[in-house]
Amino acid sequence: MTLANGCDNQETERMSDLLARHRAVMPAWLALYYDTPIEIVSGKGNRLTDAEGRTYLDFFAGIVTNTLGYDVAEVRDAVERQLARGVAHTSTLYLLRGQVELAEKIARLSGIPEAKVFFTNSGTEANETALLLATCARGSDQVLAMRNSYHGRSYGTTAVTGNRSWKNSALSPLNVHYLHGTDRDLPAFRALSDAGYIDACVADLREVLATAAAPDLACLIAEPVQGVGGLTAPPDGLLAAYKEVLDEHGILFVSDEVQTAWGRTGEHFWGIGAHGVVPDAMTFAKGLGNGVAIGGVVARGDLMDVLPANSLSTFGGNPIATAAANATLDYILDHELQTNAARLGEVLMAGLRPLVETLPSVAAVRGKGLMLGMELVRPGTGEPAPELAAAALEATRERGLLIGKGGLRGNVLRMAPPLTLHEEEAREGLEVLVEAVSAVDAAAR
Ligand code: PLP
Repeated sequence: MTLANGCDNQETERMSDLLARHRAVMPAWLALYYDTPIEIVSGKGNRLTDAEGRTYLDFFAGIVTNTLGYDVAEVRDAVERQLARGVAHTSTLYLLRGQVELAEKIARLSGIPEAKVFFTNSGTEANETALLLATCARGSDQVLAMRNSYHGRSYGTTAVTGNRSWKNSALSPLNVHYLHGTDRDLPAFRALSDAGYIDACVADLREVLATAAAPDLACLIAEPVQGVGGLTAPPDGLLAAYKEVLDEHGILFVSDEVQTAWGRTGEHFWGIGAHGVVPDAMTFAKGLGNGVAIGGVVARGDLMDVLPANSLSTFGGNPIATAAANATLDYILDHELQTNAARLGEVLMAGLRPLVETLPSVAAVRGKGLMLGMELVRPGTGEPAPELAAAALEATRERGLLIGKGGLRGNVLRMAPPLTLHEEEAREGLEVLVEAVSAVDAAAR
């Protein structure tokens, strides 16, 4: 099944010209998808159009940012209304009505008692803020993080990132200890049941606290489902079991919900909901503004108020961003998109899971709601196959479908369509995905 049109020489030339200009003025470490990267120029519904006029069904929601897809009237109108007011004052030095309203909604939805909210422009800044709050509150630079995690690209957030390919620096402002919890496939854990694995991980945490870390750690930061890490997740309940131990020591727990918030995981509004525990703080970004930059932290009021000095954010929670975010959040709640994520996640899972049996290069299909991953390995050896993931990305793109990739070893396809996905689109994307991965698998044998 092919959804895209062909592309002639002139178009290819224009794209390679832009690519050359990109390479000349932008950092070498700025990753680009595809052998011939795509220039997206517009979007409508759950589809995107590139500069050559080809359309794609978007199975990655931008980069897990466009919860509602593209050109959504409610979001456009809210932003245009704010633009028509001359954008108006941006910084937190002035009262911003939209910001207060958004904070009230997020505080209420968080389930955190007496919650307060601070807005940022990105997930990186949100996590940086949460780390600042926790380290100040506890007077400690010792932090627990999960292996294979991704928390951002600043000094502090790369420090807690546990995935080598996203760790830019060996230097760290924090003293970090990494925990097991998302590595069931290690030989030591493979044979364990969920309950057995949880026990082993809790024993690991106790051992780290008793022998490795100095006393008075600041916090644990963890993603309920690791997106960049390749859709690896702690078994439901593990983060609650961790929290019990952390509470014994007064150590704070930060849930990084940058990918898992707003109903994306289907069953729960926040990813942490699957663990039956309320964290001390949650960080969010990506899907809140439907493509407009906004992030933030929601935390217990006493934790949020711990910073001793004046602070402000020039752009965090600015009127344009909060207009987009209020409209997006209202839309998610009014249209019960979480239920749609749960239902269509099952449709996708039911279509993809059989590939584990039928295609030797598909080692696993996993995820929650509309957050799914497919792990690819070399047929015969079972070695991680980043080259097959890259080939599958090209094969889906050729057929007019955009997906993502990631994983500790770069061999996991990532699917996270807008939560507004329709069932016909889910089936259409599924068909393309199965055809593309089957073609890649056949060529690899
Ligand atoms: N935390 C998680 C779980 C993420 O997936 C990401 C980005 O992919 C971030 C933090 C960083 O967010 P941003 O790219 O908005 O800085």
